[in-house]
Amino acid sequence: MSQFAAEDFRPIILPSPPPASPVLMEALKYLAGYPQHVQTRVRELIEHGRLGAMLADKYGQPHTVRSDGQLYEYVQTLKDRHLRKSVPLGKVIYDGKLQVVKHALGTHTAISRVQGDRLKASREIRIATVFRDAPAEFLRMIVVHELAHLKEAEHNKSFYQLCTHMEPDYHRLEFDLRLYLTHLDAGRSAVEGEKQS
Ligand SMILES: [Zn+2]
Repeated sequence: MSQFAAEDFRPIILPSPPPASPVLMEALKYLAGYPQHVQTRVRELIEHGRLGAMLADKYGQPHTVRSDGQLYEYVQTLKDRHLRKSVPLGKVIYDGKLQVVKHALGTHTAISRVQGDRLKASREIRIATVFRDAPAEFLRMIVVHELAHLKEAEHNKSFYQLCTHMEPDYHRLEFDLRLYLTHLDAGRSAVEGEKQS
């Protein structure tokens, strides 16, 4: 099975140069709910240009779930394994307009009205396009998150129990995903900073 062709072994998390200092003054939006000392540590990693390398060490493996059809199969397989009895899947697609923070991660306790409504309307699962190029572990984490919403609209205790049932490392992966998204943002800001100077 040549699932991983040679070109798939490209580095998927690129190191980024230390960003221009104003970036560091901005809030770390993906980590807003975490204690100050955690945010300070992450800022230090970004400042020293080390966040990308740290993530690349842990998450070097890309995935091959490229098309919406492949995504559907991937989600269906996980669902069959863990949530066989829940409602059948509707549409499953990568969505380039989805904002990860608002729709997929939110805050740990907030009720998501958007997701609640969507839940009633259909069993559609939308995965932000950023996950197409993300390490395999983060795609699995976000799919687990969305599958858990098939049974539980809110981010409450039973929701997270479902998540850790499907993926025992769920909490670590969600935190590292936040680091990954922070890293992508910092990289973009650095590039924009260079263009301006
Ligand atoms: Zn959610």
